[in-house]
Amino acid sequence: MSEDTLFAKMASGEIPSDEVYSDEEYYAFRDINPQAPTHVLIIPRKPIPKISDAEDGDRALLGGLVLKATEIARREGLEDDGYRLVINCGKQGGQTVYHLHLHILGGRQMNWPPG
Ligand code: 5GP
Repeated sequence: MSEDTLFAKMASGEIPSDEVYSDEEYYAFRDINPQAPTHVLIIPRKPIPKISDAEDGDRALLGGLVLKATEIARREGLEDDGYRLVINCGKQGGQTVYHLHLHILGGRQMNWPPG
């Protein structure tokens, strides 16, 4: 797996980003093209390209990713009104950056079905 993804470079500070959260396992930053008043991306520092590449050994990492997203959403003040967590996977899933990331979207009413 390449360590060289755009998002890995943001997590390492090589490319600047608007940091929201950082620890040894995860990095979160604001999306450059926000689709909602709050649009944060959280990544595991481990460069798993897409969710379908995750393995059994990634269970704790993936559980932690979702829990960290709820923690960030709470800190962003999204908990009372609700929010959406999204993982796009592959071409038809709409994934454009191949470093696993979870979108945290909030601050407006979400619609269903998604586009
Ligand atoms: P995907 O479509 O792969 O699920 O989501 C990729 C997301 O990354 C998009 O929402 C896009 O706006 C965001 N993105 C792409 N390039 C950059 C960048 O250079 N900086 C930041 N902060 N976000 C980016």
